[in-house]
Amino acid sequence: PQSKLPNLGTTIFTQMSALAQQHQAINLSQGFPDFDGPLFLQERLAYHVAHGANQYAPMTGVQSLREAIADKTAELYGYKPDANSDVTVTAGATEALYAAITALVRPGDEVICFDPSYDSYAPAIELSGGVVKRIALQPPSFRVDWQAFGALLSDRTRLVILNTPHNPSATVWHHADFDALWRAIKERDIFVISDEVYEHICFTEQGHASVLAHPQLRERAVAVSSFGKTYHMTGWKVGYCVAPAAISAELRKVHQYLTFSVNTPAQLALADMLREDPAHYRDLPAFYQKKRDVLVNALRDSRLEILPCEGTYFLLVDYSAVSTLNDVEFCQWLTAEVGVAAIPLSVFCADPFPHKLIRLCFAKQESTLIAAAARLVSL
Ligand code: PMP
Ligand code: GLN
Repeated sequence: PQSKLPNLGTTIFTQMSALAQQHQAINLSQGFPDFDGPLFLQERLAYHVAHGANQYAPMTGVQSLREAIADKTAELYGYKPDANSDVTVTAGATEALYAAITALVRPGDEVICFDPSYDSYAPAIELSGGVVKRIALQPPSFRVDWQAFGALLSDRTRLVILNTPHNPSATVWHHADFDALWRAIKERDIFVISDEVYEHICFTEQGHASVLAHPQLRERAVAVSSFGKTYHMTGWKVGYCVAPAAISAELRKVHQYLTFSVNTPAQLALADMLREDPAHYRDLPAFYQKKRDVLVNALRDSRLEILPCEGTYFLLVDYSAVSTLNDVEFCQWLTAEVGVAAIPLSVFCADPFPHKLIRLCFAKQESTLIAAAARLVSL
């Protein structure tokens, strides 16, 4: 058949994890922990399976989970969404993003993305007939140039998609960025999707700035999160989004025919977890900062230049002193010859990205990080 996405292949995450397996390399490429989530969560899943919670969940998500999400949002961002009309549980953040984009983007609409940008946004926009408009963020700070942003706005701009903490750059938005975004779009009819899957993995003193803490922007925004990141269970594929009732109603129309509903016992287990152990997500920054610092310290004697990491579980390193290969070739070489798999940054950019930057995932046991660093120090 004629392809609807002719320029798209298999994701870099699938490619690099397969290559890592082929070469038995230490896999710091695709972002997932090499350790399990909390035992309590596992036990609650088993409990709900054993107690008959094995049929379809409500389309919008299990009530107790939506309420726990609303309470958590109120506590963290000073705004309580309505658990019934504003919170929707999805099959991971990936589905939330797809449902929100599909609900909002019409043929010919322009959508602004910040490059490097997560790989799932553009295909969803294009399948809806939208046009991706990209702003290139420049290393090492990857901060948004708000003048360039303003210049990209047009009468066809329908949506802005941002991600903070940002995968892959590991930088975070400040409240001032949200203020700048609001000033730029307030006179226009533009929606916002804020991908905040790493909301609990932020290392800055100010902490995570959520779109939900911005009283005006949140009236037009879909905030997306993922329990996979927060509870070290990426394979559970449970995420959610928070949006005003009118927007939620639209994205639920898509959600109900994309998945209809999400794994029932996992939702019940996550609701128990949020209620019983809120300390888990509060302790997450310290938990991941320690891993980040183990990797950073172990790489001190390498010829890799380490970039600042304010959030996410990814660390960028510049390998200019090591190789002249481009980043894709370098990652292939690194996996096959050195035994460490990483992600090249250029794959997150539509325009040529000439920098020699690769992404290392530190959601790993310390022994894994030390072993990988020992190989990288030899470069
Ligand atoms: N957005 C970003 C920025 C991500 O890094 C990821 C996953 N790594 C997702 C969305 C998708 O999350 P999920 O696994 O819950 O679908
Ligand atoms: N988001 C994860 C990453 O950035 C990968 C998720 C996936 O493989 N789709 O590594």
